[in-house]
Amino acid sequence: MSTITRIEITHHQLPLDPPFPASWDPQPRTKFPATIVRVHDSGGRVGIGSGDAMYGFADYQRYFLGEDPLDLDRHAAVLSNIEFHAGRPWPMDIALWDLVGKIRDEPIWKMVGGRSNRIQAYASSGVHRPVAEMVDVALRIKALGFPALKVRFGRPELDDDLAVISAVRDAVGDDLELMVDCNQGWRMPWDTQRPWDVDKATSVAQRLEAERVYWMEEPLHRGDYAGMAELRTRVSISIAGGEMTREPYEFRELLARNCFDVFQPDAVCTMGISGLRHLAVEVERAGKIFTPHTWGNGIGVMANLHLTAGTVATPFIEFPFDPPEWSTARRDYVLSDTIEADEDGWITLSDRPGLGIELDETTLARTLSGHASFA
Ligand SMILES: [Mg+2]
Repeated sequence: MSTITRIEITHHQLPLDPPFPASWDPQPRTKFPATIVRVHDSGGRVGIGSGDAMYGFADYQRYFLGEDPLDLDRHAAVLSNIEFHAGRPWPMDIALWDLVGKIRDEPIWKMVGGRSNRIQAYASSGVHRPVAEMVDVALRIKALGFPALKVRFGRPELDDDLAVISAVRDAVGDDLELMVDCNQGWRMPWDTQRPWDVDKATSVAQRLEAERVYWMEEPLHRGDYAGMAELRTRVSISIAGGEMTREPYEFRELLARNCFDVFQPDAVCTMGISGLRHLAVEVERAGKIFTPHTWGNGIGVMANLHLTAGTVATPFIEFPFDPPEWSTARRDYVLSDTIEADEDGWITLSDRPGLGIELDETTLARTLSGHASFA
């Protein structure tokens, strides 16, 4: 039996010049932080994870040292206890799955169910651009072969958001699915804007329906279950959410109360691969769509690709992509190879063990930072 001998956590910051003006953050980003978790075992193998900053995790490392890496359910149970007491520790779960894949010589997509090694990607934009530029973005995304594009709302005037979606629809016709992220579910720490209420969400949803938008993402605060259930009775557009929702009981409640058509928890922020592989199947059995949020670095994208392709059928998965501010080179700077979709928007996962990734150690050394800072 191998045992866990060491857990190494490093923080990195890639300077962003030009900055990335993320539509959901009032402050343009001048750096892209990443936290890398490496779990070493007695056989000399190293599992890799990333995602949240692992705030407060140092206090809990000892509960994993000396343990058998293969005991994934036990580790996930400890991690969910840690999550209750500290931050989101799920990068550790990702690293353990990568390590177990290396021990078993099996890719994660097979370990979680082996349903498929292929999944189609939708382009997820992240910048508020003027109408003409958004039309150019949409035409480029369509020409690149992506089946769908997600557009961000949140400009100072809602009418400007609506003008974008209507111009984009006119330009691309019905050959490209469009989704709209309203980003009302949660806020950055410094953003005190109130979320929409159900009447406001309803009026926006009706406008999106008229533009044949496939799903409306996070139209209300993440805890407004009554509002979401009510919204779903008023409109027919699919309602998506749950990207940062934390706990299994919250998802059960969201399912029971019919709040969403599309469930989007991200394995590096919520329940890990260990928890979401089961939730994904539950969501599918309920006749809903499971397709994770993946906005973050390439390790998170890869973890969610394996999880989703290996467990359920889904129309497509988020592929954060909005060059030049959000290129695959920036997004995947911690990896030696960027993750790319083919000319029809498909991503094929390899048979390499675990996540099948390699770290770019030169870039990691150059971007090493003493501490985690997401602010
Ligand atoms: Mg979102």
